[in-house]
This record gives sequence, structure tokens and C-alpha cells, in this order.
Amino acid sequence: MNPIYLDNNATTRVAPEVLDEMLPYLQDLYGNPSSMHTFGGQLYRKIEGAREKVANLLNAHPEEIIFTSCGTESDNTAIMSAIESLPRRKHVITTRVEHPAVLNFCRHLARKGYRVTFVPVNNLGQLDMDFLFKSVDDDTAVVSIMYANNETGVIFPIAEIAQKLKERGVLFHTDAVQAGGKLPLDLKELPVDMLSLSGHKLHAPKGIGVLYVRRGTRFSPYVIGGHQERGRRAGTENVASIIGLGKACELAAKFLHEEATALKVLCDRLESALLKCCPDARINGDIENRLPNTTNMSFEYIEGEAILLRLNEFGICASSGSACTSGSLEPSHVLRAMGIPYTAVHGSIRFSLSRYNTQQEIDKVIEVMPGVIRELREYSPFGREKIVCPPQ
Ligand code: PLP
Repeated sequence: MNPIYLDNNATTRVAPEVLDEMLPYLQDLYGNPSSMHTFGGQLYRKIEGAREKVANLLNAHPEEIIFTSCGTESDNTAIMSAIESLPRRKHVITTRVEHPAVLNFCRHLARKGYRVTFVPVNNLGQLDMDFLFKSVDDDTAVVSIMYANNETGVIFPIAEIAQKLKERGVLFHTDAVQAGGKLPLDLKELPVDMLSLSGHKLHAPKGIGVLYVRRGTRFSPYVIGGHQERGRRAGTENVASIIGLGKACELAAKFLHEEATALKVLCDRLESALLKCCPDARINGDIENRLPNTTNMSFEYIEGEAILLRLNEFGICASSGSACTSGSLEPSHVLRAMGIPYTAVHGSIRFSLSRYNTQQEIDKVIEVMPGVIRELREYSPFGREKIVCPPQ
């Protein structure tokens, strides 16, 4: 049975067109792009073709695109590059709701003696902009703020932040791993200095990432070795995945608007049906400013993990908190930062959709969820008196 896969913020299916494009480079065309001979050297041109496609999705210049191994490497590199380029500055600003790729890297810097400010959010997941701008001082080396949150889908006002930080001469990095391929990103209009993407969030394979670095930005490499990526990221290129990512970006650029509209329709259908038929359910996050594919919902008095396990029996894949924190049963740091009540944090699950989801799949989830919630509440010490779902 094919799963009903609603966990696309964790990872996405590799698009068939992407796989087709990659296969020759995993089979016959296995050369090293740095080689002098034609067999390897021809791959260099293919990599440059992929770089152009990535640049096109971002309305950037190909020279501004650095291929990395993942979103995490791009995030770490951006922040490290900023503090290495400005060695006298010892202050870094980020938010309390970042992905661990930024959050834990900043905590690591704090342990190394850097001063790190974690900007709070309100109960809709919106950023405290006053706090952010008041935190910037002459010692600030870099500000790193995500474009859209992986758990709630909430979008931050990155254009406004980038403009204000530019006026104050502070380097700005945005982790756009969840925004890439879902929202239009025009780097001619958006004055960020650095931006991260990850292939496996937009139907390319795992193990390939992008760091955009605006021309003129001082850059210090994180992975040091050979001359690849014009000396900005050493290591023999992941040729097949780079080519796959190029194709994925081409598809995203072509279908972004129609896909976003279709995803929003499916997401709204799911949300409104679940709110109607499951009592004590709520949506977490700012519904006006959200990724079109993401809904984070809480069902009070039961555990999100229990919901996931029951859904799993129906072949439905979702997640509680982020993929990286599930398994630890640690309540989501994002929902806690939003001040969501404890019982709601524990009963939270995230559905994240992709171009491959259908209305039939969503209707199947709508069909099974009320029964799952009712059943779990029957076993919950807090849930019995809350059961008002109609019997199936
Ligand atoms: N940033 C965000 C917002 C993410 O959602 C993720 C992955 O979930 C990452 C960074 C890390 O990307 P990768 O898995 O490619 O290292």
C-alpha cells in the first residue's frame, strides 16, 4: 500500500523527472568534474547548467550559488563565514524558533564565548520585531532568521527585516529551507546577504544543499580543501544530486504559483474539516502568513505521538513537532516559544503536503481522524468528558 504521505516538511519524494535527469550520472557518467579528460571534464558544464537553474529560481546570479551537502551545512557556513569575516564582532542574533541547524549552532557559539540573542515570538508565532531591532548593536556580526518555520509554516517578514538590517550595515542570513520551491524568492528584490536551501525539501534528493552568497559579501569557507566551488566549498561535487537539484528548481520555478494555490486548497479543506469534526482542536500559528502546504494542529488531552501511531496504522504519515525532535518526546521548542498551553503542545501534529497529494488522500484523513481522536480520548485520563464526536 502506498502511504498517504503528509510529512513533506521532513522530506519530499524525489520527482520522477529529477530522478531521470540524475540516473546517467550515477551510472555511465561517473567522472570527476575536476579531471582534465573529456569524460570527467564534461560534467563541469553540467554542474554549471544546474547552477543556472538554481540561480533562476532565486533570480540570482549563478556565481552567487554555492553547492553544499545539506541545509544544515549551508546554515552553519553562513553564520561561521560572517563571524570569521568580522572577527572583532562577538554578537549573533537569531530567533527562538529556528531549526536546530541554526539554533544549536548558535548555542554552540554561545558556549564558545559569543553573545547570542534569541528573539522571541508571540502566540501566533510572529516575531517580536522591536526586540529584534533593539538587539542590534555595533558588536553584531550577523543576524540569522528563518524565512518560514518548519513546524508551523509561519512566514517571517524577511524583506522588511533585510531592508532595515541593510540600512544598519549588519550581515543578514535567512534559512529559506522550507520556503524554497513553495514561495517566490526574488533575490534582486530581497536584500539578504546569504540564504540557505536544501534539495530534499523540494523534490531533489537528500544530501544536497545551496548557500546563496550575494556578490560583494565577504565570505570565508567552512569546508576547506580543494578548489571546488571557486574555493568556497571544498570536496568533490555530488554531481548527480547537483544535476537533480537543478531539475527540481526548474520544475519549482515553472509550477510554483499553480502548486501553491492547489496546496492551499487541500490544506484548507483538511483544516476546516478537522476543526469541525474534532472538538478541542486548534490551529497553531498565524494562518494569514503561512506556507501553503503546512498545518500544525493541536488536539487537547491526548498525545501527538499516539495520534501519529494510530494514523500510521491507516498508512497516513504526519509528524509531531519537527522530524528531528520526534522520537525524543521532547515538547516542540517552537510551540513552547509561542506560549501554547502545555496540553496543546503535547497533542500537536503537523501535516505538510506536496504536489503529489490528492483530494482523495485528504478526504481519507478527514474520514479517519475523528475516530482516532475519539478513541484516544476514551483512554486518556483527561479526555472522557470531552468526547462529542459523532459516532461513525
Ligand atoms: N532548516 C530548516 C528550516 C529545516 O526544516 C531543515 C530540515 O528539516 C534544515 C534547515 C536542515 O536541512 P537538511 O536536512 O538539508 O540539513
